[in-house]
Amino acid sequence: MNGFDQSKDVRSEAFGGGKIAVLPPDVANKIAAGEVIERPASVVRELVENSLDAGAKRIDVVIEDGGATRIVVEDDGDGMTRADAVLAFERHATSKIRAADDLARIGTYGFRGEALPSIASVSRVTMTTRRSSDNAGTCVRIEGGRAEPAAEAGCPAGTSIVVGDLFFNVPARKRFLKATATETGRVAEIVRRHALANPAVHFTFATVAQGSRRERLVAPACASLIDRAAAVFGDEVGAFFPFDRTANGVRARGLFAAPEESVATAEGITMFVNGRPVRDRVLVHGVLAGFQSLLERGRYPVVVLFVEMDAALVDVNVHPQKSEVRFADGRVVHAAVSGALSGALASTPWITRTNAGNRTYVVESRETPGRFFPAAHASRAAGTNQATFAFRAAPTATATPDASAIATEEPTASRYSSLRVIGRYANTYVLCDEGDALVVIDQHAAHERVVFERMKAREGARATVQRLLLPVNIHLAPAELAALEAAHDVFESVGFEFTAVGAGQVVLYAVPSFAAGRTPERVFRDVLREVSEADHTRALANARDRAIATIACHAAVRAGDELTADECDALLRDLDTTPNNGNCPHGRPIVTRLLRRDLEKRFHRP
Ligand code: ADP
Ligand code: MG
Repeated sequence: MNGFDQSKDVRSEAFGGGKIAVLPPDVANKIAAGEVIERPASVVRELVENSLDAGAKRIDVVIEDGGATRIVVEDDGDGMTRADAVLAFERHATSKIRAADDLARIGTYGFRGEALPSIASVSRVTMTTRRSSDNAGTCVRIEGGRAEPAAEAGCPAGTSIVVGDLFFNVPARKRFLKATATETGRVAEIVRRHALANPAVHFTFATVAQGSRRERLVAPACASLIDRAAAVFGDEVGAFFPFDRTANGVRARGLFAAPEESVATAEGITMFVNGRPVRDRVLVHGVLAGFQSLLERGRYPVVVLFVEMDAALVDVNVHPQKSEVRFADGRVVHAAVSGALSGALASTPWITRTNAGNRTYVVESRETPGRFFPAAHASRAAGTNQATFAFRAAPTATATPDASAIATEEPTASRYSSLRVIGRYANTYVLCDEGDALVVIDQHAAHERVVFERMKAREGARATVQRLLLPVNIHLAPAELAALEAAHDVFESVGFEFTAVGAGQVVLYAVPSFAAGRTPERVFRDVLREVSEADHTRALANARDRAIATIACHAAVRAGDELTADECDALLRDLDTTPNNGNCPHGRPIVTRLLRRDLEKRFHRP
């Protein structure tokens, strides 16, 4: 019997009519809907998750007017029997868990049994469904929680749910819906996430607004995440690079776009925990930590991140929309994510983007990616016009991901030092001939990165210092003195030697040898300012790294410094042995290129 038909609950009377009464189911559902169903995107999310749970191989989503008028989700999954089709709209009716114990190992998206009754209580729902083994299907109609008797229906195997007039009976909530474009964007985001998490499922998404239909996503089933990402992001992202690493039982894998494709919000980071789309600060922070010095302040990378771990160590049941998670040990997860990304980023030879006319990359395998080979062997994958990726099986001898193996494996074509320096411009840029492109390297950014990584590599070892012939007296305000005291260890570890002599005076005896020749007091003060600054939201999380970046900035050749040809060559060679050699420690790019093709266009050459 369908709970929606009950107009009142009799239990309070049966127990003598105290002031406590159990809410009638339609009221309870409407309240639950308040938590679960906030907007069209929440409906789409629940329906798509149900389709995935039902083993669908194809899911088609259509929304009208941002979902306010109509939402349609069709799948070719298991379908339901007539009895189940009716039961599905009962509160806490679920086929996915049977007992509280099962909560510890949820393998499906759904488990609360709340979605369908909640949706049905605030809209007009029509569901048709058929199991492939049944001859006839079932049609169920429910308006505002009130069900009509289920009827027989002819329909394809699978389930189709049409949700009309969302919130028609909850005017307050309807008023809170945003503009069509905003709601559409949110739905698109949900579809995008699920499409990324399930490359083997064919997804489509279309919108209808003012009577005209637009296909927004067509993502045929494919074998790999990288193919799916190309279909989902299209031209928005030029190229993705894979990463995959497991640390302390936490596997962090996925794709990242080059740092220069960064965006202004964290929306570019798509996260999944055990296949479930989530928003989580620990993960966002882990991603940013992984990118550390590769991003400018206020920029976020485009990343698709899958975290896989023991389901018992992560609680997905903390939020009615299941978009938040709680980790038993957030630090382990954070470290796994940042380590996986920083490792992959450090060993990515950005310079291999040379033949980037068609932005084709060869990565070693679909399943255990992480190494890149220059595009020389790559061919543009046939049949697509988007950013494409060609794959090559990993040579078995190098099956373990290991940065040193990458370095030796790479053909020299992928190196800065293989570029031919043809000149310099504005005493700032080194110009190189690369065949298909004119490569432009920012000498200061490049050198800054080189010095930064050299100094960083000495962590734990004694810093190399330059003694000053004449010690320098520096006056510090009380706040500066306090900051210096707090950062004393950092200063020593990077190579400053000094003593406080009271009355706001410090005597400086030695500076980091990289900073030799620069004005000692300026370097000292800049480092002090940088390590004591409260607002270091981005890029370099730890004080030592910030100190080193500041010293590197002073030590590096400036824009305007004249470099000889030999110095240019030396810089390029140094870059090759430097990790993270695509960006300076503050995230600015080191290299850019002008494609010959683009030049030819400017000169109207055929
Ligand atoms: P939950 O997903 O938490 O179990 P729902 O209210 O979303 O709860 O769905 C209730 C039940 O209805 C599911 O457990 C499932 O058995 C069935 N169901 C819902 N949608 C579909 C679908 N598209 N295909 C097959 N079965 C479905
Ligand atoms: Mg569900």
